[in-house]
Amino acid sequence: MKIPLNRPSLAGREMANIRDALRRGQISGDGHYTRCCSRRLEALTGAPRVLLTSSCTHALELAILLTGFKPGQEVVCPSFTFPSTANAFVLRGLKPRFAEVTPETLNMDPDDASRRITSRTAAMIPVHYAGVPCEMDRLTEMAQRHGVMLIEDAAQALGALYQRRHAGTFGSMGAFSFHETKNCHCGEGGALVINDPKWIARAEILRQKGTDRARFLRGEVDKYTWVDVGSSFVPSELQSAYLDAQLQNLRRITARRRQLHQGYVEALRSLEARGVFRLPVIPRDVQSAYHLFYILLESRRERDRVMADLQTRGIFATFHYVPLHLSAMGRRFGYRKGDFPVSENLSERLLRLPFFTSMTSREQARVTTALRRLF
Ligand SMILES: *Cc1c(COP(=O)(O)O)cnc(C)c1O
Repeated sequence: MKIPLNRPSLAGREMANIRDALRRGQISGDGHYTRCCSRRLEALTGAPRVLLTSSCTHALELAILLTGFKPGQEVVCPSFTFPSTANAFVLRGLKPRFAEVTPETLNMDPDDASRRITSRTAAMIPVHYAGVPCEMDRLTEMAQRHGVMLIEDAAQALGALYQRRHAGTFGSMGAFSFHETKNCHCGEGGALVINDPKWIARAEILRQKGTDRARFLRGEVDKYTWVDVGSSFVPSELQSAYLDAQLQNLRRITARRRQLHQGYVEALRSLEARGVFRLPVIPRDVQSAYHLFYILLESRRERDRVMADLQTRGIFATFHYVPLHLSAMGRRFGYRKGDFPVSENLSERLLRLPFFTSMTSREQARVTTALRRLF
C-alpha cells in the first residue's frame, strides 16, 4: 500500500450538501452555501467580512486590485513561498523585494524584511508557513511605522492563532486557501478576509465582475450594472456546498492533525536527539493550524537519499519550495544564487512527510518505522 503525501479527506456531509444545493436550484455563486461559508469564517475569525473566492491566488489578486497600487511600486515577501504570493502583485506591475526566513519557523524574518523596505514599498505579505503564524506583533508594528500595508498569505493557516488572535486578521486583508491539499478544502477555493471595513463595499464589486450584484442580491438596488473594474472571483455553489461540510468540522480536522503532528514528534524525537535531523518548532505564543509536517536533514544529499529510499517503500515524501528568487521568474527580477542563503539552505534540506487528516496511525507508523530503519 502506497502512502501519498496528501489524500483529500471527506468530513461527512459533502455529498448531502451538494445534493441540497442542486435541489435549491442555484449552482452559480453567492447562494445559500456561499453565504453559510462566509458566516462560518466570519464567526471563526471575528473579521468584519470574509468573501469566498475561487482560490487563494484569486483572493490575493483581488486584494492587490483593491489597493490600487501602481506599477513600479514594491512588495516585500519571503522568497521561500508558493509563487502565488508574488504573482498577485507582479501581475499588476509591482516588483518583488524578497526577504529571508528565520531558520526556526521558516517564516519571514522581521529584521530582514524591515531592511528591504524602501520609499517605493507599498506592502508586506508575510506567509504563515506550515500553519504557524509569523511574528505578527513585530510585523504589524513595522508596517505601521513605515506606512506600508500588511496583507497576510494565510493559505495554510486557517484556525491558527498568534497570541490568541486568528491568522489572517492582523493585516488590512488576509487570504485563505481551500485547495485540495489544505486542511479544509473544496478542490479549488479560497477566501479574502477583510479586516479594514473601508475595503468591503468595493471588494464586493471587484469580486463580482465590476458589478453591484452583491447589493442587488441584498435587495438594496433593483438592478445591477457595471460600476467599476473587476473580474470573476466567485466560487460556484457546488464548491461552497462541499466546503461548508469541511468548515463545519474544522475543530475535528485540526484536532486530528494535531494528534498526527504529536505522533510524528514522539516517534522521531530520539532521532532528532541523535542529530540526524531537526523537527519543526512551534513557538510558545502561537497555536498552529498543523498544515504540514517536515524534517530538516543535514544536507541536500542526505535529504535526497532519504526521499528516494522512502519512495522505494511506497512512501511519498517530497520537498518544496524552490525559493522564488532562484526560479525563472525570480531571476528576471535580477536575483541570483546566494542572495538568500538561509532560504536556499533550508529548501535544500527540507523533506515533507505524508500528512493528511485521514492518515491512519498505522500509515504513520509505517513512515516512522521506515525512517528509524534508515538511521
Ligand atoms: C496553497 C497556497 C497558495 C495558493 O492557494 P490556491 O488556493 O491554490 O490558489 C498560496 N500561498 C501559499 C503559501 C499556499 O500554501
